[in-house]
Amino acid sequence: MGETIFSKIIKKEIPAEIVYESDTVLAFRDINPQAPVHILIIPKIEIPTVREINGLEHASLLGEMYDAANQIAKDEGISENGFRLVFNCGDNGGQEVYHIHMHLLGGRQMQWPPG
Ligand code: 5GP
Repeated sequence: MGETIFSKIIKKEIPAEIVYESDTVLAFRDINPQAPVHILIIPKIEIPTVREINGLEHASLLGEMYDAANQIAKDEGISENGFRLVFNCGDNGGQEVYHIHMHLLGGRQMQWPPG
């Protein structure tokens, strides 16, 4: 699988506004925000889509991504009012970057169903 733009962000080869970093997870503001708070939470290892996630292998990594989302939501002041977490998968899911990423969206009322 080829490198994505997110690999370059992980290696700090291109800039991003990083809001959280650990040995295994990175989070940064989306370049084209769809809400007042729009942050992408990604693993540092390359996993192209949610289809490649294996519960046994990736359980702690996914747990850390959700812990990061909760911590960032608190830091951004959107935890209490609520927020949305989204993984897009593949063409029909609207995925553009093939390195899994959890969208953390908040700061406004979300609508349902999504487009
Ligand atoms: P997807 O459609 O794959 O679920 O979401 C990809 C997201 O990555 C989009 O919301 C898009 O705005 C964001 N994005 C794409 N390229 C960059 C970039 O170079 N920097 C940042 N910060 N976000 C990006």
